[in-house]
Amino acid sequence: MFEYCGAIHVHSTYSDGSGSVPVILNAAHQSQLDFLILTDHNSLRARAEGWEGWHGKTLLIVGDEVSGRHGHCLAIGTQQRGNHRQDHQGILQDIHRQEGLSFIAHPHGKYRPLFKEHNHSWGNWAVDHFTGLELWSYMFDWVTDFRYYRFWNHYRHPNRYITGPHPQTLQKWDLICQQRPCVAIGGVDAHARKYHPTPFVVFPYESAFRTLHTRILLQKPLTGSKQEDIRAILQALKQGHCYISYDDLAQGAGVRFQTPDGQITMGDETPFQSPIEINIQLPQKADLKIICNGQTIAQHQEQNHTFQAKKPGVYRVEAQIQNSPWVYTNPIYLRAQ
Ligand SMILES: [Zn+2]
Ligand SMILES: [Zn+2]
Repeated sequence: MFEYCGAIHVHSTYSDGSGSVPVILNAAHQSQLDFLILTDHNSLRARAEGWEGWHGKTLLIVGDEVSGRHGHCLAIGTQQRGNHRQDHQGILQDIHRQEGLSFIAHPHGKYRPLFKEHNHSWGNWAVDHFTGLELWSYMFDWVTDFRYYRFWNHYRHPNRYITGPHPQTLQKWDLICQQRPCVAIGGVDAHARKYHPTPFVVFPYESAFRTLHTRILLQKPLTGSKQEDIRAILQALKQGHCYISYDDLAQGAGVRFQTPDGQITMGDETPFQSPIEINIQLPQKADLKIICNGQTIAQHQEQNHTFQAKKPGVYRVEAQIQNSPWVYTNPIYLRAQ
């Protein structure tokens, strides 16, 4: 397996981010990202202006965040930007028709900096045709408990306020996965903007890019060809051959969740025939939870662990270090026949 580390969900000056694409690319190089997915609000201008492709060791992929009144959806791999004035289903169908990937952004994202609540939650779950969810939004995780009276603490020690995916999003994800595969990704939602009225920039790109990563797993290495490599990364995301790691806590490269022969790995869906062995590998010892159909079925403090999946179900793994959220894998779907 070849693993590549990416930051997904980034805004530039093409929408409401503070940095131009070169500034963002420079930060991506400093943070040693293999790929970065830019998702400006309702804009694919970065692609039209020729930025998509390899820049040194970082591949820039341009998608957009279709941002309407009823919620936001990341569209990746579409040819035309989405029409954000449609309803939920219209937005998703539009992306689906263009054979793009759709990830519902910050599905339960709300915050209240002063008096008025800003609600950016997805408003309609009676929809289909979405690839997955932004399971863990770094920005919304941080901002959910934000209050101006504790701005300085929040600003100086962002890690103290990071709690992991929103519980409702996790619950929704587990439910959807029991019906059909639903891919989880992590999003940074980096804007690097000033938090008015303070003079401070919240999450400069470079520090944001060191936090929450989506790591994809490929059978073959990337080639250096822009078209081929974008296709390979999008395919891995579509199949859920990816996991989320919060690398500000501990370096998360090298997580594996698969059968010992590697034939079935995270994201794969297969009929359950008989009990199978599944192996978990982490880059270091951590508190790992094995979850089946949304229920924790085992907990261990280990770096490597093998268990038997004895019945059909949607199996996934979460890992924590000292009660802080660290790793979320996509599930292995063992379906009843
Ligand atoms: Zn958004
Ligand atoms: Zn955004």
